[in-house]
Amino acid sequence: MTGLKSPFLTVPRFAAVPGLVHGFGRGAWTESDFLAFAEGRGLKTVIMRQLHADAVHRLAAAPSRKLEGDALVTNVPGFLLVIRTADCLPVLLVDEPNRAVAAVHCGWRGTQERVLEKAVRAMGEAYGSRPEETLAALGPCIGAACYEVGPEVRSGHLRAGFPAAVFAVRGHAPGADASLQPPKYLLDLRAANAWLLETLGFVRANVFNAGPVCTHCEPRLLSYRRNRTDPRRMFNFIGLSS
Ligand SMILES: [Zn+2]
Repeated sequence: MTGLKSPFLTVPRFAAVPGLVHGFGRGAWTESDFLAFAEGRGLKTVIMRQLHADAVHRLAAAPSRKLEGDALVTNVPGFLLVIRTADCLPVLLVDEPNRAVAAVHCGWRGTQERVLEKAVRAMGEAYGSRPEETLAALGPCIGAACYEVGPEVRSGHLRAGFPAAVFAVRGHAPGADASLQPPKYLLDLRAANAWLLETLGFVRANVFNAGPVCTHCEPRLLSYRRNRTDPRRMFNFIGLSS
């Protein structure tokens, strides 16, 4: 993993894949920095209007309009698939044998709707990708300790099949009246999506964490929960240059 001083984080195993370009941009890496980076490598960026839902786009050619959705898959070289985040979990996938990649936006809604599973299945249908041969990189996201969610988020995830262990419960203060202070639930986005990958057949050794720091705690990363008025987002990307 590159340090926080470089403009983006990378995963060594991904960096070892010939022709693969990938990274998780830091807060200071602006959109124009990112676009210049892509242009310098002759790659065409594909930036969606993200909806916090589960639509997966399979890219065979340059889109004629701005796509709406939360996951992109392709096996065509020359594109840089982009996910923009500030607290949500960006997940990058590469199927080295079949030369296919994916970029997935996993916030709590997308996680609950299993958008990552839908992207993995789309790669399987389109390119013959097999989970046990696919590599996954999980970028920086908000940590569980900073990610309080409502009870409806917890029940929604449990209904969707996620184990209760992906939530921590913060109880009431000692001596306080429990009826006045209902328990608080903390969602571990990283654990939830890592669990999903494992259930799909990913090998644990093929799932990597890039910068397992909390976006909310780390000032060099962007966090919607830390600064709701900051419109900037971090640029996370993957593509095949050849
Ligand atoms: Zn934190």
